[in-house]
Amino acid sequence: MLIHTPKSEYDIVVVGAGMVGASFAHLLRAEPACASLSMLVVEAVLPASTEQPSFDARSTALSFGSRKIFEKMGVWQDIAESATAIEKIQVSDKGHFGSVWLDCAEHKQQALGYVMENSRLGRVLNPLLMEAEGIDYLAPAKIHSARPRQSCMQLQIDAQGEQLEVSANLVVLADGGRSPICADLGITQKRKDYEQQALIANVAFSRPHEHVAYERFTEQGPLAILPLADYEQQHRGALVWTLRAENVSEVTSLDEQELLAELNNQFGQRLGKITQIGQRFTYPLSLSVATEQVRPHLVLLGNVAHTLHPVAGQGLNLALRAAESLVQQIRKGKARGEAPGEMSVLQAYQESRNEDQQVTIALTDSMIRMFSTNQLGPAFARKAGLLAVDLLPGIRKGFGRQAMGLHAW
Ligand SMILES: Cc1cc2nc3c(=O)[nH]c(=O)nc-3n(C[C@H](O)[C@H](O)[C@H](O)COP(=O)(O)OP(=O)(O)OC[C@H]3O[C@@H](n4cnc5c(N)ncnc54)[C@H](O)[C@@H]3O)c2cc1C
Repeated sequence: MLIHTPKSEYDIVVVGAGMVGASFAHLLRAEPACASLSMLVVEAVLPASTEQPSFDARSTALSFGSRKIFEKMGVWQDIAESATAIEKIQVSDKGHFGSVWLDCAEHKQQALGYVMENSRLGRVLNPLLMEAEGIDYLAPAKIHSARPRQSCMQLQIDAQGEQLEVSANLVVLADGGRSPICADLGITQKRKDYEQQALIANVAFSRPHEHVAYERFTEQGPLAILPLADYEQQHRGALVWTLRAENVSEVTSLDEQELLAELNNQFGQRLGKITQIGQRFTYPLSLSVATEQVRPHLVLLGNVAHTLHPVAGQGLNLALRAAESLVQQIRKGKARGEAPGEMSVLQAYQESRNEDQQVTIALTDSMIRMFSTNQLGPAFARKAGLLAVDLLPGIRKGFGRQAMGLHAW
């Protein structure tokens, strides 16, 4: 529930109500065994404002596993109304023979995943934070420092000019990449700059997408078009076009017709002709992983813990699995009489996440390295790799389950 004055002590304080912080708060509230834990969520930006970074003009590919997590929160019905099912994924390599098809029928699932417009997710999660019993929601308010104490973390909050102090047994830091709080605590990030940027826009095309998501590797880097619901009788998709940093201004300065011509050239005829491109946004792309993700009374969640290249659509999906796992470890700790911020709880959480995190990061990073090169060796290997995955159903199944976020289910 939206509040103006927080209490001085909470069991859990969530810093940041972006996609990850808000999802964690709803998951914790949906867990009956954790109902007695007090929780404060602090968000720097006015709720439902277009300034909130998570809920901008992007679209996100949600895995089937993420659908199950949203079901647990009780919000899937509202998301589903505007989500588009991905029934097949085609992965291809421009200028090379061979493509891989992943098909939900092969995995006996209704869908491989769903595409959701981020702004829509904000319209589902934000009002719930403002109304939910058992969640104190303070916004707009900014945490400007976190100090470790003997048995808690002490937080300084700037609530529209008013300085407040709150202590938390557990701080869930979900304030996004490049967190000054994290830096202030001396937690460093292992960072790799891909020297690429993602150009994001909605596009319209002449043929229906038939629930296929396309991932195409080009000389610049990967280019994806994800299926969106038709709008005003136009077939639509969400474009994620990776460009080398040195070519970004060249591409973004093209006028609309020149840009469409270049996009059609790169993407080919899979969706007929791409006829329109909407407002464009660019995002610099890097891999960064926090060197510590838990400390006494502190856990890092979402982009502050790991920021991934969007090529495999894994960043949010990975973070949602982490949020779900954290709730389960808090529940188990509570049953043993342990407070949420104790290291026994946080270490159990960390151990439960290690394998999934390493595999997902390695998979995403290796796709970028393999598909962002023109050199003959890797180019040949990726072509052979595409053919092998298509020819060997076992490989394809394993890859599909990872992409669907189902390996842990
Ligand atoms: C182009 C692109 C496409 C992507 N596509 C996909 C995809 O298809 N599938 C997928 O799974 N992932 C995808 N991702 C990744 C996904 O967007 C991120 O994983 C997700 O946005 C991380 O959310 P977050 O809540 O951790 O961080 P953020 O979205 O950055 O949210 C942080 C929140 O914290 C608030 N905040 C910051 N500092 C403070 C403070 N001091 N006090 C209070 N509040 C604060 C901010 O206002 C914000 O609301 C994509 C990413 C990009 C860039």
